[in-house]
Amino acid sequence: MHLTPVKAIKKHCLECSGNSKKEVRECLINNCPLYPYRMGKNPNRKGIKNNGSSNVLRQKSEQIGINIKAYS
Ligand code: SF4
Repeated sequence: MHLTPVKAIKKHCLECSGNSKKEVRECLINNCPLYPYRMGKNPNRKGIKNNGSSNVLRQKSEQIGINIKAYS
């Protein structure tokens, strides 16, 4: 099973907290490097929509005038 880095951190934090989501949410170790990511979200990406790489590729190809369907 493929996990994104933040999902792997969320899983790790669950294990660290005895598989209790409540304990992860209420973690008191706020100097832990994983603390900002413990809920499975990257706070640095707040407000950024996930376009997905295929959408980014499509947008870039449209910008430079290439039809990517012709190559697939
Ligand atoms: S933030 Fe650190 S101390 Fe808190 S649950 Fe995650 S790994 Fe454990």
